[in-house]
Amino acid sequence: MSPIPTRPLTRNIARGRAPLTIGEYERAEGYVAVRDTLGNLDPAAVVQMVADSGLGGCGGGGFPTGRKWQLMPGVAQRPGPRYLVVNADEMEPGTFKDRLLLEGDPHQMIEGIILSAYAVQANAAYIFVRGEYVTAIERLNVAIAEAEAAGLLGQNILGSGYDLSIQVHGGAGRYICGEETALLNSLEGRRAIPRSKPPFPQVNGLWGHPTIVNNVETICNVPHIVRYGAAWYRDLGVNGAVGTKIYGVSGKVNRPGAFELPMGTTMRTMIEDCAGGMKPGYHLRAVLPGGASTAFLLEDQMDVPMTFADMAKRGTRLGTGTAIVLDDRTCPVGFIANLQQFFARESCGWCAPCRDGLPWVERTLKSIEAGKGVESDLDVLLEMTENLGPGRTFCALAPGAMASLQSGLAYFADDFKQHIDTKACPWT
Ligand code: SF4
Repeated sequence: MSPIPTRPLTRNIARGRAPLTIGEYERAEGYVAVRDTLGNLDPAAVVQMVADSGLGGCGGGGFPTGRKWQLMPGVAQRPGPRYLVVNADEMEPGTFKDRLLLEGDPHQMIEGIILSAYAVQANAAYIFVRGEYVTAIERLNVAIAEAEAAGLLGQNILGSGYDLSIQVHGGAGRYICGEETALLNSLEGRRAIPRSKPPFPQVNGLWGHPTIVNNVETICNVPHIVRYGAAWYRDLGVNGAVGTKIYGVSGKVNRPGAFELPMGTTMRTMIEDCAGGMKPGYHLRAVLPGGASTAFLLEDQMDVPMTFADMAKRGTRLGTGTAIVLDDRTCPVGFIANLQQFFARESCGWCAPCRDGLPWVERTLKSIEAGKGVESDLDVLLEMTENLGPGRTFCALAPGAMASLQSGLAYFADDFKQHIDTKACPWT
């Protein structure tokens, strides 16, 4: 048996290396967890193992995965089809961690799906992949064909009596499909708008049947938890956290990228040790810790452990764990305006505050950036952060968009004022 990995998710991934074929993956002890589990371990025991591990959803919410699975009604209670859907619609600006896993080790994804689907007793699984991830789609389809040929997918897998098929579905390119119920609507061929919750997908999901929707990274953890145990997984974390996390960073750092680190690593360690610090001539001013839908963290907060709880205590969110750095040579007004342009374009248009409010926010910010803003614009923007905030819109897209704006108005108030007073952008 190979040494027990401390970086399980990326153990088979190396820069410039093609993904492992099924033979190479099995020689690296891949699919051992599937062979040991199917037909030998009760599905409920797999659910319990994942619950005991403390694995949280890696798509941004952090909801406990085992708990989510336990909320699905049992087969006796709800006979009929049940589904597992992998949310691989990775479109959060600044986030590229799932792409690394999909392209770098597609068999890990397939193994995670087999074990997760077995646990929740689903016989059909879908991978909803961002349409632009062409390489990921190609590699997943190759891996699925290899797994089918090896008897690891299809009817009566490895003689266990368990059946599973996996379909890869390329998305049509809308950010809102990352919201799990909009994703399900899209998969059903409907307009991609969020559904009212409750009922949650665990109860009424795809075509009205019980459905688990989990993120790529979440599912990729499952083979390792099943293989090495919940206690091993818990011990991987630091600062009170469990497991590992694929963190990432973009911006003016020396080595932007994605890094698998113990969950609970500090932002400073990631930026300075993994990303090589700031490029010469640039100074870190603030960070969006988990993609564009999170609030700014200032330079003096870089020693905070990157966990869901620690970030919440600082008024922001861990989100996807992939940070965007704002440096001192970039205009914060333009930076925030750029994010709002994205969200305005990606609003699904279902509810008025978001559909009409976000373009208004974008126009106002661009006007300030161009030196055409007036003092009252700041009051309007502040009011918008409330009107588009939590509880005011049908889904979390608009409140997510307001996170950077609200914190930016507070932290960079002098910069906003300078644009208005001098009628020019100091960075141009
Ligand atoms: Fe659509 Fe925006 Fe409303 Fe969400 S908040 S349902 S994205 S219009």
